[in-house]
Amino acid sequence: TGLTLSDPSLARTQCYVDGAWIGEGVDAIDNPATGDVLAKVPRFGESETTAAVEAAARAFKPWAKKSAKERSQILRRWFELIMANQEDLARIMTAEQGKPLAEARGEVAYAASFVEFYAEEAKRIYGETIPSPFPGSRIIVTRQPVGVCAAITPWNFPAAMITRKCAPGLAAGCTFVVKPAPDTPLTALALVALAEQAGFPKGVINIVTGDAVAIGKVMTSHPAVRFIGFTGSTPVGKLLMQQAASTVKRVGLELGGNAPFIVFDDADLDAAVQGAIAAKFRNMGQTCVCTNRLFVQAGIHDAFVEKFAGEVAKMKVGNGAEVGVVQGPLINERAVEKVERHVADALANGAKVMVGGKRHALGRTFYEPTVLSGVTTRMLVTREETFGPIAPVYRFADEDEVVRLANDTPFGLAAYFYTRDLGRAFRVAEELEYGMVGVNSAILGTEVAPFGGVKESGLGREGSAHGIDEFVDIKYVLMGGL
Ligand code: ADP
Repeated sequence: TGLTLSDPSLARTQCYVDGAWIGEGVDAIDNPATGDVLAKVPRFGESETTAAVEAAARAFKPWAKKSAKERSQILRRWFELIMANQEDLARIMTAEQGKPLAEARGEVAYAASFVEFYAEEAKRIYGETIPSPFPGSRIIVTRQPVGVCAAITPWNFPAAMITRKCAPGLAAGCTFVVKPAPDTPLTALALVALAEQAGFPKGVINIVTGDAVAIGKVMTSHPAVRFIGFTGSTPVGKLLMQQAASTVKRVGLELGGNAPFIVFDDADLDAAVQGAIAAKFRNMGQTCVCTNRLFVQAGIHDAFVEKFAGEVAKMKVGNGAEVGVVQGPLINERAVEKVERHVADALANGAKVMVGGKRHALGRTFYEPTVLSGVTTRMLVTREETFGPIAPVYRFADEDEVVRLANDTPFGLAAYFYTRDLGRAFRVAEELEYGMVGVNSAILGTEVAPFGGVKESGLGREGSAHGIDEFVDIKYVLMGGL
């Protein structure tokens, strides 16, 4: 990969199936900050994916039969190995994904936190007993692992989206076939190399790179697969859900968002500005919980925009591997084109650039962190997730209006608002049709809380004790003749 790693064996370029590293390098993976080719990875399709599913199916029963404590210990070792290799993983991630190194290190720790949490939770997958209405009997309810699981993950969180899906499933006794995003397979392969070191038996975790459509078809149609977890765009999520219907698989979907960020007149201005920076510009705006629409109440609007644009103007853009850089390149040319389209549409409809507004002088896929004011709901930025470093600011008059505007979208992942009025804090948190709400807080992610959306933003929850629910079937046993 041309990277200097303290453990060069983490630079994996083959897939891992049934305990073996296999496949020839075909598809080139490049560094979005430099254009350098880092490595080539295999292009697997139907037959290789079927083999991986079959390996996971063979591994399932023995893995599920292990004691919870044994599974817990292997997960714990994986957690420790991820943290011991945090720096190498972060370097690989920044090279293939572009996010600044500090953010990459943070993501590695975040990814590891799910493995740690579910190593603990593995031991607490409790059942229940229910008082029976039938004489001489007992009702026992247990939670059994669903079986083979498939995971399809995106490029914006190359490590965390994998562990957030796999760790709870592995804890419950499920086995996995993972397909990482084509832009960022190297972090995923390195994580799996560490899983191998941690001692997962062969077939428990498999990873395939290659033809997304072919791999997705096997994952959604093979009868052995009982759950498919996907994080990515809403159209692909809908397609996978449809495909999974043929064999009635469980689906876990974490799809697009259109997060509102609301600043009420009574907000703490400095806190709201800092919150908006964090909620908008993390990962160059390329996260599904990044705010896509900033609504600012008339009384605080001008002060907010001035201060916010001033802070955005100070952000250092560059190669994420360089010290002090807080904004890296966007993932690819297609991503920049979408940003350009949204900005051009907003300007054509009367928005004003407060800062940024064009490609960065560094060229490639670098775009200037941008604040737009005078944005209205007619514009493309209102309806589509931009997934880039653009902060569109709307002016609003009152609480009812802004709640209506905020909910006026088919999406419902994350929402944020700033206020110091206690009554309003409760009212608005309850009225927002979103799976997650940050009140005077802009960073929601933690392994201990349930992450997920409502409406077209998805199904199911990842993280927390609820995260196990996706991976277990409830079994009711009526024990009679007692
Ligand atoms: P983005 O446009 O941000 O890359 P996608 O939803 O296209 O978002 O990608 C998320 C993940 O879904 C990636 O791993 C990608 O390869 C995968 N993917 C895209 N299309 C399909 C498909 N038809 N079947 C299965 N996986 C797919």
